[in-house]
Amino acid sequence: MPYQAAQSRYDSIDYRRSGKSGLLLPAISLGIWWNFGGNDLLENSRDMLRTAFDLGVTHIDIANNYGPPPGSAEDTFGAIYRQDLAPYRDELIVSNKAGYRMWPGPYGEWGSRKYLIASCDQSLKRTGLEYFDIFYSHRPDPDTPLEETMSALDTIVRSGRALYAGISSYRPEMTKQAVDILRELGTPCLVHQPRYNMFDRWIEDGLLDVLGQEGVGCICFSPLDQGILTNKYIDAVPGDSRAIKNQWSDKLPAAKLDKVRALNELAMERGQTMAQLALAWTLRHPQMTSALIGASKSSQIVDAVGALDNLGFSDEELARIEAILGG
Ligand code: NDP
Repeated sequence: MPYQAAQSRYDSIDYRRSGKSGLLLPAISLGIWWNFGGNDLLENSRDMLRTAFDLGVTHIDIANNYGPPPGSAEDTFGAIYRQDLAPYRDELIVSNKAGYRMWPGPYGEWGSRKYLIASCDQSLKRTGLEYFDIFYSHRPDPDTPLEETMSALDTIVRSGRALYAGISSYRPEMTKQAVDILRELGTPCLVHQPRYNMFDRWIEDGLLDVLGQEGVGCICFSPLDQGILTNKYIDAVPGDSRAIKNQWSDKLPAAKLDKVRALNELAMERGQTMAQLALAWTLRHPQMTSALIGASKSSQIVDAVGALDNLGFSDEELARIEAILGG
């Protein structure tokens, strides 16, 4: 049976403007860093993409190196796109990035014009898309002039390979410089993609201010700290969890898990799951356009979208969260 998107797909989600741009992003977006690679079950990946779109999650985030192996998440996305999502291209925002190692030699990573443009072309081929909606510099390059990296993004947009440009993991000062250069080139910076969650709050120290002042959106990655900020690890480490699959279960810090147990009490009082509390908390900033989750099964996407039913926090609740996190 050919896929037919749910009629109700725009009923349950919030769309937020990315900075001062014309583009609205869903408050929950789905990234395919894990669980869409060459060794994962295609039918599960397909089910997740269908579930996301049926719920109004119109934004899918990719990077050249997602898999494993690198590039295979793009292949998976491309296969599912052709089967299911192609009729809905104009309802989708698909982003891609380049910055990390993709091929051997001096032109296979970082921020040169040579690498970014070649990588974008490879990514278009692997996904089968004619263009990406957003193309990012995936990480700042300490050795390439910022002007070169930003002018490569400008070229990618002007040549029609992407509609908007973004940056990821740039510190506040370099963000301001990148935003200025892009504005001068005539391709404004749409969005910044930093890591942000209850355990990693570096963006509160300057970056959110810069983004607010410059009118640039923000989409935070790993808002659940790769699953730690859910109820998944509260009692035990499940065998099918990312911690086991990626072999970091022995590094799960007991102190963090104690905090999650205390936060989970608050979540239950609010009638939310732990994941929903963690997502709502990231979305409390006016600059935060979207929380960019990952998932290993469709039920986690349903859970994440459910966070949007209760985004408000009282001062008491925020103070209690601070006390738990600081304790
Ligand atoms: P999250 O912090 O949302 O972690 C996702 C993982 O948490 C899932 O795979 C799942 O793990 C678990 N999980 C999710 N929802 C639930 C739930 N409701 N209940 C229980 N467990 C849950 O995000 P990611 O770290 O995956 O990052 C999200 C996206 O951000 C990536 O796909 C990518 O697009 C982007 N990203 C960008 C980076 C950058 O440098 N710009 C770097 C990293 C990510 P499990 O498998 O154990 O079920």
